[in-house]
Amino acid sequence: MGIFDKVKDKVKSILPKRKEPELKNTVPKEKETIRKTFGEYCNANHGTEGGKLCAKCTAVLSTVMIKISRCPYGIGKPICEQCETPCFGERFTNEFTTIMKGGQKKMLLSHPIMAVKHKLKGLGAEYAKMQRDKKSTDKQKEDAEKVKAKFANATRSPKKAKKRKKK
Ligand SMILES: [Zn+2]
Repeated sequence: MGIFDKVKDKVKSILPKRKEPELKNTVPKEKETIRKTFGEYCNANHGTEGGKLCAKCTAVLSTVMIKISRCPYGIGKPICEQCETPCFGERFTNEFTTIMKGGQKKMLLSHPIMAVKHKLKGLGAEYAKMQRDKKSTDKQKEDAEKVKAKFANATRSPKKAKKRKKK
């Protein structure tokens, strides 16, 4: 290793590491936010106190927590309120949405930073979704053309042969 390399290594070790596009695990934060929001909602609506949950909310929350841990999107998951493939089941998804919406205002008062961060994450996901949908429609068109061309060239003969046999 030459002196130059050594210097380079030294400089590298001092400089802040370049941000790699790694996925942040946002699941623990989301769980925490959900748990708190449930507490706020239940306390306000079901006569419970101190962030504790009634039996019904406990049932919804525990289902939600289990499902989040098994989320097919992994640690980079979208927030559950915005999921395109909700996995809680219809009933729990409805209850979940109601509770999250209902608890949001209270969250803004009691845990403003947490609430705002959660909201921002939701907005970010919405934006990304919009961009993706825009792109994917373009890409879908392109792909469709490609596939069409491929099929026209490659699979004409075997397909027709099959059809003829059926007749
Ligand atoms: Zn409750």
